[in-house]
Amino acid sequence: MARIGLVAHDDKKDDMCAWAERHRAKLARHQLWGTGTTGSRVKAATGLEIALLKSGPLGGDQQLGAMICEGRLDMLIFFIDPMSAQPHDVDVKALTRLATLYDVPLANNRSTADAVLAHLAN
Ligand code: PGA
Repeated sequence: MARIGLVAHDDKKDDMCAWAERHRAKLARHQLWGTGTTGSRVKAATGLEIALLKSGPLGGDQQLGAMICEGRLDMLIFFIDPMSAQPHDVDVKALTRLATLYDVPLANNRSTADAVLAHLAN
């Protein structure tokens, strides 16, 4: 069972919900964490069980980063909005940096997320 983090910037939350709905059956066999708003939205859209962290701008990205450092996250699906500046850009950078540093699979868009999830057994 893999431990998967879900994060989406505001303009990408619909995409994340649609992606999670498409992969619902497979995601249901893994442990899921989400930043506050993303996690709540995906949970409401899919009925999946998702542990909710703080909202991203309030520290949720940092919580996921800490999980990565501690070896408690196996995969990060992080739909970044390439068209808008984020007030918590430093947190976004810190999270993507830690995923890179610790060699945690990191998907920033739907097709990469499809590929990364397909790579998981079951
Ligand atoms: P949110 O945080 O899911 O609470 O909106 C995501 C983010 O980092 O912007």
